[in-house]
Order: sequence, then C-alpha cells, then structure tokens
Amino acid sequence: MTYKIITAPGDGIGPEVTAAAVRVLDRVGEVFGHQFQYEEILVGGASIDGTGVPLTESAITAARSGDAVLFGAVGGSAWDRLTPPLRPEKAILGLRQALGAYINLRPGILFPALREASPLKDELLGRGFDLMVVRELTGGIYFGEKGTRDGKYGPEAYDVEVYSEFEVRRIAQKAFQLAQTRRKKVVSVDKANVLESSRLWRRIVEEVAADFPDVELSHMYVDNAAMQVVRDPGQFDVLLTSNLFGDILSDEISMLTGSIGLLPSASLGSGTTGIYEPIHGSAPDLAGLDKANPIGAILSAAMLLDHSLGLTREAHAIRQAVDATLEAGHQTGDIHRSGVSVHGTSDLASIICRRITN
Ligand code: NAD
Repeated sequence: MTYKIITAPGDGIGPEVTAAAVRVLDRVGEVFGHQFQYEEILVGGASIDGTGVPLTESAITAARSGDAVLFGAVGGSAWDRLTPPLRPEKAILGLRQALGAYINLRPGILFPALREASPLKDELLGRGFDLMVVRELTGGIYFGEKGTRDGKYGPEAYDVEVYSEFEVRRIAQKAFQLAQTRRKKVVSVDKANVLESSRLWRRIVEEVAADFPDVELSHMYVDNAAMQVVRDPGQFDVLLTSNLFGDILSDEISMLTGSIGLLPSASLGSGTTGIYEPIHGSAPDLAGLDKANPIGAILSAAMLLDHSLGLTREAHAIRQAVDATLEAGHQTGDIHRSGVSVHGTSDLASIICRRITN
C-alpha cells in the first residue's frame, strides 16, 4: 500500500533527525512491502526565511492532504527577536490547530540498556517504567481568557482555566481506549481539592470510566503526581492530564529516561491524521554536527505507523530495532554510559535500519 507522509524538518537538528526517521520508514517499506511517498513543507525559521511567516496556508493544505505529518523541530536565535505571532513555534500551534489535534501522547519509557543513564537511583527505578501521558492539548489555561487590569493591589494579570464537559469527555475516552491496549490502568491527574475545573474534570472522568469496566481508574492530585513519578515511576500505565499539568509532568518524566533525545510524541485529533515529533527542540548547539540523537524522531515514526496508518507490526519492528541497538551498546554522545560505542546521527540510523526485520 502507498502512504503519503508530509515531512516538516524545520530548523537546527530538525532536518538531521527527520532524515534519519525517513530512512527508517523507507527500510520498513522495503521489509514489509509498503510505499511511503514524502512531501516536504517549510515550517518555523526555515519558513520565515523563505516566506516571511512560520507556516503558510499552502503548508497547511499540504499537511491536511497527507496521511500524517512527521515534524522535526523549530526555533533558533536568528528568530528570537520576532514578535510572538511570527515566531517559529507558531508553526507547531498552527499545524495542531489545522488538524484539530486535541490529544497529545507522550510515552515515557526506560530502555533497559539505559538504566545507568537515568538520574534516578537504581532502587527507585525498580522494574523500570513504560508509561503514557495522555495530555489534553487545546483547552485549559493556555487557551482561557487572559489579560491585565487594575486590581486591588495595582496592576495585575490573569489566565483562566476553563474546561467543558465535552473537552474532558473526549480526552478521557482516548485515555481509556489506550489503556485497554496496555496494562489497563488510568491515573487521572487533577487538583480537585482546590479547583472547580478539576472537580468537573474528575466527575466526567468517572462517568467515562463507567464505560470501560476493564480499566482501573484512580485519581491523583498533581502535586502528589509530581512526587510519585520520581518516587516510583513504574506504578503508572496511562496518566491522563489537563493541558497545563501534562506539560509539566511530561517534561519531568522525560528527564528520567536518560536523554531528551530519546522521546517521541504524537498529537492527534478525531481523524487519523496526526503530527509526530520528537519532544526535543532544535538544539542549535548540535545543528549540522551529526551528533543529535535520532531515536526520538525514529520512535515518532513508529508512533505514526501505529496511530495514523494502523501498521502496528511495523511500528513494533522499529521499537525492537531501537531496543536491540541500545542493548548492543550503540548510542549517540548525549547518553552517558560506560563501555559503549558512540555514533553520529546518520550512523546510528543505519545501525537501527539494519536491525529492522519482518
Ligand atoms: P532543546 O531541546 O533544543 O535542547 C536542550 C538540550 O538538549 C541541549 O543541550 C541540546 O543539545 C540537547 N538535545 C536536544 N535534542 C537532542 C538530541 N536529539 N540529541 C542530543 N541532545 C539533544 O531545547 P532548548 O535549548 O531549550 O531550545 C532550543 C530551540 O528549540 C529554541 O529555539 C526553542 O524555542 C526550540 N524548541 C523547539 C521545540 C519544538 O520544535 N517542538 C521544542 C522545544 C524547544
């Protein structure tokens, strides 16, 4: 079968890690008999330099025309002084908006070969961890009413956290559906002891849970969740969060895995087209040096196969190849571990490609 993938390499190390992910997809195509066709769009600083804006209408049209978008990273000092609507990050927000992506999936996985690279002590890592943060992406405080005004003590600013029952219900349903394909446990994160929006969140999550009797639901206050992910990350399967709480917790979790370069993410809407990107930024300090870890981008390609194309066996083959590569002691320089061989971005991608089998 033929699939159309829109690539959005962006800036800094974005093009290098996206090229690595494309090579891995091509290898999957060879091994499993699929054809991936690519169309590249300009995003972020690359688009600003070429067109004057971080995301053009034609890039959005192209993104909508594909089966999925494989995104690299955007940003860099050259564009830091631009006003907010013209900044490179607007490209990500624009694409999410265009594709109605309200679900953000961020897996946090400890690769057994990388225990030593995690900042957590071995006894806290226990049996390791393999969790999924399901974060609501288009609601909450980032999109609520905001402003400045004169208050009781002089000038003040405010940002309002708003969630509708509809928004909570649809993200909760996604979390429970995902949990059904995993270890069947959802921990819903809120601050229901203080926030009205969290009380609504909890009530709706409980209503949704009634439709998924095979999934165990528990609730955790966000302050406790921040503590529990470093005390015992292995206790979590699916973590369901609002936009703000998920933003903070998923970054905290990414630190436990050993390198920001390892982790993928997916942003999905109600259709199958999604945006897949490593969680790291454009790492200007590494750009053009063939030193970036391509694994976050490669695992983003695996998520793309899973969630947008329904190619689960192929996605599994990528994850196994990454595991086997790390297990055999091949890595990039960002992972601190003794007695292993350090490779460049392109070389590591070749090693992973060779390990992809049907
Ligand atoms: P960053 O993620 O780019 O880099 C943080 C640190 O992690 C750096 O030391 C970098 O060398 C290292 N790092 C990142 N990715 C790596 C990889 N694949 N392999 C090895 N090491 C890696 O974050 P930053 O430095 O805060 O931001 C740099 C630029 O990226 C800024 O312009 C920022 O706005 C942008 N940014 C973009 C995205 C995105 O495109 N989704 C996300 C975050 C930051």
